[in-house]
Amino acid sequence: MTAMYEKLTMPANGLRLHLNENTGGCSQAVLDALRGLTTQAAAVYPDYTEAIAATATLLGVDPRYVLLTNGLDEGIFAAALAALRGSAATSPLEALTVVPAFDMYAGCSRAAGGKVVEVPLGPGFAFPLGETIAALTPATRIVFLTTPHNPTGFIVPRDSIIAIAGVAPEALIFVDEAYIDFGGETLIDASLLDCYPNLVVGRTFSKAYGLAGLRAGALIATPATLERIRESVPPYSINIAAAVAVPAALRDTVHYTWYLNEVRESKRVLYAALDRLGLTYLRSDANFVLARFGNSAKNVVAGLRARNIFVRDRSGDPGCEGYVRITTGVVAHTQACIAAIEEVLCGAR
Ligand SMILES: *Cc1c(COP(=O)(O)O)cnc(C)c1O
Repeated sequence: MTAMYEKLTMPANGLRLHLNENTGGCSQAVLDALRGLTTQAAAVYPDYTEAIAATATLLGVDPRYVLLTNGLDEGIFAAALAALRGSAATSPLEALTVVPAFDMYAGCSRAAGGKVVEVPLGPGFAFPLGETIAALTPATRIVFLTTPHNPTGFIVPRDSIIAIAGVAPEALIFVDEAYIDFGGETLIDASLLDCYPNLVVGRTFSKAYGLAGLRAGALIATPATLERIRESVPPYSINIAAAVAVPAALRDTVHYTWYLNEVRESKRVLYAALDRLGLTYLRSDANFVLARFGNSAKNVVAGLRARNIFVRDRSGDPGCEGYVRITTGVVAHTQACIAAIEEVLCGAR
């Protein structure tokens, strides 16, 4: 799993538009909270009461519905372990993913001993509801869904998720809402979770809140469902820096709103540029855009790299030949990327 993230050697001043990180940085209030840590606070095992309470308040659920994790990655791993435990080589338990998807689902499922079953997205990258339901078997123990989806930025219809949860009561339905801050409707709602106790919603503070380096995420489900998953999460998996960062980040709604607006404007600016260049792209509800450069994809990625701008070539993913994923964060960064794309494609200077 550790090998999975695209680790690029890049100069310190490189523009990172390849991992959908927050290009504006986190709130200053987070740094103030980190500076406020005492030598004693660093010396004792952390208390999560405040971070859990702040997250529960944000999401409108009781704190018993919240499990903090060391980034959502750990939440994905813990859910995969809980669901696939007991899998045997002779009769493997199955994890279902809709591909192309976030790599961690398959990596974590394999690490947990499960077999990965992949369902391709439909024509035009549409969510394949019928095919997903058809791929369920008695061995399916976890289904990974992402809304908005990565790498398309498309919302998975809420009704489709609920339909899957209804027909697969024995499987955990893992709804990864890493990008929900940017668009779409959350499934976090205590009465819905109570009706579908197999639903687990994943959240991260890495993207909209800019805490990727601190590592903080959360799983939201009924207390009984979380109880199963807690068995796979060490008691102190979040360090004290992340524990104080979360409430501080959540309090700074001005910074958060500013960033959401930058992302919205960035997408508008990038769409306009791609239209001008005659290129097609997917209209995204997340903080990135999947754009089709066709035969020029490799050239564009290399040309941007030569200009210190890093984007993600998704050509290797099913159905994504010629597609590049570009993070759309701070508008000035997006404009720098657009100028570089125009240089590479049009030879402009
Ligand atoms: C970035 C991302 C995550 C990882 O979040 P962390 O909290 O940084 O571990 C999870 N799911 C998806 C779909 C992502 O794109």
